Amino acid sequence: MGQIVVARFPDGWLSELYSRNDIVDVVSAHTSLTERSGRFWGLCPFHKEKTPSFSVSRDKQVYYCFGCKQGGNVVNFVMKAENVSFGEAIEILSRRAGMELPDKIDDKEYMLLKRKKQQIKDLNKLAARYYHETLFSPQGRKAFEYLKNRGIDEPVMKRFGLGYAPDGWDSVLELARSKGVPDETIRESGLVLVKNNNMYDAFRGRVMFPIFSPLGEVVAFGGRVLGDGTPKYLNTKETLVFNKRRNLYGIDLIRRMAKVKSAVLVEGYMDVVSLCAHGVKAAVASLGTALTKEQAALLKRYTSEVFVAYDGDEAGEIATMKAIETLSAAGFRVRVIRFGDGLDPDEFVKTRGLKGFAQLVKNAPDSISYKLEVKKKEFDVSTADGKERYAIAAAKIIEGIESPIIKERYIKKLAEETGFSPGSISGEAQKKGAQKNSNANNRYNRIEKTDDGTESLLLAFLLGSPAYAQSVSGMVSEEDFSFGPHKNIFSALLGSVKKGIQPTYAELISELGAEEDVNEAARLSGLQVVAEDPGAFLKDCAAKLKKERLMRRRLELAKLLQTASGAERSKLLAEISELDKEFIKLRV
Ligand SMILES: [Zn+2]
Repeated sequence: MGQIVVARFPDGWLSELYSRNDIVDVVSAHTSLTERSGRFWGLCPFHKEKTPSFSVSRDKQVYYCFGCKQGGNVVNFVMKAENVSFGEAIEILSRRAGMELPDKIDDKEYMLLKRKKQQIKDLNKLAARYYHETLFSPQGRKAFEYLKNRGIDEPVMKRFGLGYAPDGWDSVLELARSKGVPDETIRESGLVLVKNNNMYDAFRGRVMFPIFSPLGEVVAFGGRVLGDGTPKYLNTKETLVFNKRRNLYGIDLIRRMAKVKSAVLVEGYMDVVSLCAHGVKAAVASLGTALTKEQAALLKRYTSEVFVAYDGDEAGEIATMKAIETLSAAGFRVRVIRFGDGLDPDEFVKTRGLKGFAQLVKNAPDSISYKLEVKKKEFDVSTADGKERYAIAAAKIIEGIESPIIKERYIKKLAEETGFSPGSISGEAQKKGAQKNSNANNRYNRIEKTDDGTESLLLAFLLGSPAYAQSVSGMVSEEDFSFGPHKNIFSALLGSVKKGIQPTYAELISELGAEEDVNEAARLSGLQVVAEDPGAFLKDCAAKLKKERLMRRRLELAKLLQTASGAERSKLLAEISELDKEFIKLRV
């Protein structure tokens, strides 16, 4: 989630946005929720789990996961679930609620950034159109032939908006300038490089693959060189609108298909285009880097099963192992497609077609079987010793499986394969499993078992009933809290109240800047504090906080006293005696 930029919207606009986007409805689109003891519970969309520890409060419009210890309001949720910035989350929610975004948001920095991003996207669109037209012009003949030869016909070129960047130094630069795009924007778009203060086209003599955001905006380009130049593939560098860790090539097409049953994950954009040309429509590529957590989270929005189809060479095998880990952690069912003979998906479909590919999909091993196969290659299983060592290593892989039924299936398979008894393999594979299970107790009741102190209870009460905050302001100050996030939450609450606003729980969270403050406020939403006599409760809390603060200071002083001497020592002793007097007063 990172730091949150709190933009200043017109009075009441954000409140309206919150009230029109019920967090239970918004979250329900990502995970199914069941109501239980006043809260809604479901499997966390952000970490892998078997029993629900993710909870949503409809009263407070707040979510909190007891597993990953993160939470927030509906905007925080959308930021995380959709992998977007604060501003984008606001846009998504305003669209969802059918609300117009205010034209003028009273935050210069935010508006400036927003405008800059839009300018870069507009320029990218202009460039994409230019590259695309050039591909179909005499200038793009060679690139057009190249694509044709790879089995990519015109409809597919159009579907992906493919293009050609001519082999000049200033084609796009001049185009942008002729349209009045400021040099600063051109520079920040990544379409040009700068040397000795001179700008020149970054992409020259390349087949161009526009990279789209899920919403279909051109955020960057990938270019493949025609012929033998280097680098073979070139991507737009990081810009205000492009972070390659957070984008997947082809994700916009998957989004347009709505929910797809499964997607194919490949290494490069040529693989995505080529698969599509041969009838495999749902494919994405992870832009040159190993698949990231963010990319997995992005893909999770549209599908829950992935076929990893990386190249059949050694590097591809290593990347596959990593992708399996990342995808499994994100909660995907993972299967692996192997092309063999060092082929890549593009080469494979060109020679074997959709039929051949469908056969591979049908026979694709799941992630465990794949890991076992790869592991097996490390040993010479024709010898007794090799077989034994393979069985032990394989049992370690099986140990990680959570479901006992699935585990049993692999134990049987491994027993058949190695000749060891299922009993001894199961013994190897249970070692760690047993420990794991004892920790995985049902977390439904976590909410009642809490050892939260006065600070938490007081804040939880005030966040739920901000009307009392005013009366507390005379009794309690920020310094009375010992925990950083508590200080910040309290001061944000007081800040609002002093301005005459009684924020809802969700609104108060939007006032907090740091992620740990947001998480703590969300966690506090799980504490049910019912005070029959609020006045007495608050007075009691205030006294306890004062006392705790004095005690903290007293301990500090005692520690300092151990090394102090002379005037310093007398000063400390004087303060201690003052403190002791205050203690006595508090007891009365
Ligand atoms: Zn979680």
